[in-house]
Amino acid sequence: MNRDRLILAGGAVVVVIAISAVAMRWHAANNANFPHGTWWICQNPSCKAEFSMSSRELGQWHAAHYGDPLPCPKCGQTNVIRAEKCQNCGTVYPAGGTVACPHCGRPPE
Ligand SMILES: [Zn+2]
Ligand SMILES: [Zn+2]
Repeated sequence: MNRDRLILAGGAVVVVIAISAVAMRWHAANNANFPHGTWWICQNPSCKAEFSMSSRELGQWHAAHYGDPLPCPKCGQTNVIRAEKCQNCGTVYPAGGTVACPHCGRPPE
């Protein structure tokens, strides 16, 4: 029972850290080292959150959670995929398969 509580508390801490990382990212002006950050899309059909992390935040997260998949800061599920944010129209779309923005057709930078 104690172990279950620990796991629950650990999960809550991860979610809180992820949310504050995203909130900080939104408040911060463009990061000089990684101006566009890394974008992610939650694949949970009832969530579909789009969120960004700077390369530094991502590096810190992976250092602290080695080998773990990145969780969605909104729903906590780990089925998130890498995405691109269109610098022209702001659309966030899955990275990899598409080479251009599905909305305006501009390729990612
Ligand atoms: Zn989600
Ligand atoms: Zn676009």
